Amino acid sequence: MSFSKLGLSTPLLKAIATQGYETPTPIQEQSIPAAIQGKDLLAAARTGTGKTAAFALPILEKLNTEHTRRPKYFRVLILTPTRELALQIEENINQYSQYLDIKTMAMVGGVKLEPQKQKLIDGVDVLIATPGRLIDMIYQRAVRLEALEVLVLDEADRMLDMGFIGDIEKILERIPLERQNLLFSATLSNNVRALAKGFMNKPTEISVISKDANDAKVNQWLVTVDKSNKSSLLSHLIKENDWQQALIFIRTKHGAAKLVSQLEKRGIAADSIHGDRSQDVRGQILADFKSGKIQFLVSTDISARGIDIDQLPRVINYDLPNAVDDYIHRIGRTGRAGTSGEAVSLVSYDDFKSLCSIERRLGHIIERRELEEFAPKKVVPVSILNFVPKNPNTKIHGDKDSRPAKDRPERDKKKSIKLKHKGKNQPNQNKNRPSKNKPSSRTTDKNEDPWGNWKK
Ligand code: AMP
Repeated sequence: MSFSKLGLSTPLLKAIATQGYETPTPIQEQSIPAAIQGKDLLAAARTGTGKTAAFALPILEKLNTEHTRRPKYFRVLILTPTRELALQIEENINQYSQYLDIKTMAMVGGVKLEPQKQKLIDGVDVLIATPGRLIDMIYQRAVRLEALEVLVLDEADRMLDMGFIGDIEKILERIPLERQNLLFSATLSNNVRALAKGFMNKPTEISVISKDANDAKVNQWLVTVDKSNKSSLLSHLIKENDWQQALIFIRTKHGAAKLVSQLEKRGIAADSIHGDRSQDVRGQILADFKSGKIQFLVSTDISARGIDIDQLPRVINYDLPNAVDDYIHRIGRTGRAGTSGEAVSLVSYDDFKSLCSIERRLGHIIERRELEEFAPKKVVPVSILNFVPKNPNTKIHGDKDSRPAKDRPERDKKKSIKLKHKGKNQPNQNKNRPSKNKPSSRTTDKNEDPWGNWKK
């Protein structure tokens, strides 16, 4: 399949070629023709699958056929959960529309209102906004919604998680009924479906999400370590492996600042982004990280969805997030656009509960690598008991049996793991344990790859 078969006109095909895209990704192949026909779309696709172009290209195709730019009015509204994602989409749309007369604007919080108001007066075709800032602008009568033709909800699941439902409803009440709706979400949960039902018109449903959360292109592994040793373990890994670039996720803003100073004390230059830094500073730091000027960037989950860095080799989970979806989004920053990457997690006893949830979702134990000098005093148990590690040669941490898992009889696999849980103070895992010998419904389906045969 080539882009020319999808119904896109020459200026768009030229821009796609300039980006180096040769063939459409599966989500693009399915979404673009349906959206060009004017259908509503309900699409399940994670970031990294090419979903921005999947909605942006048909929108640009539509805008290009008719030019009616008016001050304060806009024809397309793309709602996104985070500022970073809005800016990323703006950058992508500017690239895709470089041979068209289309004006795009990202309207996000954390920066001054006045320049944004002025830009709206100058005229905009595509507005990409975070819900809160758009509501502010509506109340200040700086925007008019009556000319809207296409509404996109991007990362709808995330917007619901972040509590934007009230803002979204206010916006829906104010836009014309006659319009096209495109909803993209990493998961089509019941909440997302309920939202879609309320405002969409018989949407065409598209999904490129594999049944399980595994991404074959991201090599995931972890090291168990005591919490107090995490920063020295991280410095050790960076130096020993001669890592040149990594995005390091951490739960708290305070933790991010502390980690940067700990790394710097060990001679590793790093910077951090989190919600307390201004939008301008965040934008600049992100640009420096993308260009390689900053090699190690410590970030809270605020950036997990918005960051798109070509060929980011590695993501590090300094701690594990509480929500499994956040883990999936964090590791989705690497291994993008068909390239490979690795996701390394530093796991201490406090992370155990999160580890259980993550491994349960993945359907396999994450490969553990041991570093003797960092072996934890508080051992992190193995979480999913009936599973053989994805890499059958992996030795299970703390397991006295020197045979790799694949060479052990089924009975011994269970016995050796069971013994691990006899220790005091270890969380009771029985309630989450899959029933005996029952294969998990989330077991990897290797035939299902959201990228299909697509290659960049
Ligand atoms: P997205 O899922 O929209 O965040 O896109 C992830 C990455 O894939 C971005 O770096 C895009 O530039 C890239 N990309 C999107 N579509 C294609 C394509 N058809 N061929 C190659 N790269 C693509």
